[in-house]
Amino acid sequence: MSLLEVENLSAYYITHAYGVQRDVRAVDNITFSMEENEIVGLAGESGCGKSTLIKVLLAIIKPPLRVLSGQVNYSYDGKKFNLLTLEREQLRKVQWEDISYIPQGSMSTLNPVRKIRKTFEDVIKAHKKSESREEYERLMEEHIKYLGLPLEVLDSYPHQLSGGMRQRTTIALATILKPKIIFADEPTTALDVVVQRGVIQMLKQLHEEQKNTMLIVTHDMAVHANVAEKIAIMYAGKIVEIAEKKELFTAPKHPYSQFLIQSLPRIGDKRRRTSAPGNPPSLADPPPGCRFHPRCPYVKDVCKRHIPKLIEYEESHNIACFLYSSEIEEGEEIVQEIIRS
Ligand code: SF4
Repeated sequence: MSLLEVENLSAYYITHAYGVQRDVRAVDNITFSMEENEIVGLAGESGCGKSTLIKVLLAIIKPPLRVLSGQVNYSYDGKKFNLLTLEREQLRKVQWEDISYIPQGSMSTLNPVRKIRKTFEDVIKAHKKSESREEYERLMEEHIKYLGLPLEVLDSYPHQLSGGMRQRTTIALATILKPKIIFADEPTTALDVVVQRGVIQMLKQLHEEQKNTMLIVTHDMAVHANVAEKIAIMYAGKIVEIAEKKELFTAPKHPYSQFLIQSLPRIGDKRRRTSAPGNPPSLADPPPGCRFHPRCPYVKDVCKRHIPKLIEYEESHNIACFLYSSEIEEGEEIVQEIIRS
């Protein structure tokens, strides 16, 4: 069994204003899985639902975000559970210790008015109550040193560190308890190229040592090329293709993935890059059928009426497109019924 199995997951932002309901379909009937010790990159344009998907996989669900259907099943070390059905106390236990998160922007994790040592202590104390203070200190200092950070960061306030150092400290904090799975949301955004390289190295080093599973979300395909083993492409709230990295970069199959890969700059190639025509749809009012159909050069009648199912095209290569299968996705009616009820 896979470490993480996501089944028919739908999560919408549902708001009401002046008697009118607005549903933003950020995560729309998604099914995929992740194996132990693999690094998966989740790519797609800004606003396609990547960050919302991560929040749901961590059960960080606050209104107006609502999970309408599906399961998020984790299985490791003899434990097996659907994260979305855990009680608050069970959830608190697995978050950080087993399932950890590197958020977008380090300031949201580090408390600006507390020294970093205190923040580390709080996290360790909450999960390792029986350990002594000396043991916390040893754990903290060993981890910080292992990741090549100076021990002085522990006695600093977040604002005293550079953006790159803060981000690396956030990664150290997220991994202090050696979690089984880590979700990293745009871990290199807003960092300069040299610092980005340091952060990528750090993630690889951690993966090597802790043997954990990672889901890295970024729109930056260069980061995926560097770190990921497998890549999932998301478009308008849906996963449209998942493949091994090499396969995805050299032979993408879904028309949107093809545009995405074609638009990347290549050393020595001066040909003009083409991107997908038009703009991504509003998630509050996506087109019927395949979400990509208004921009797709291969659109057929069936694409405008039905949603293609994500099918296994080859081993380790899944695609949702009527060019490769005639299978239609099911479940849309169920979600609509839940919204109406
Ligand atoms: Fe294009 Fe149809 Fe495939 Fe969608 S399902 S990507 S519209 S060919």
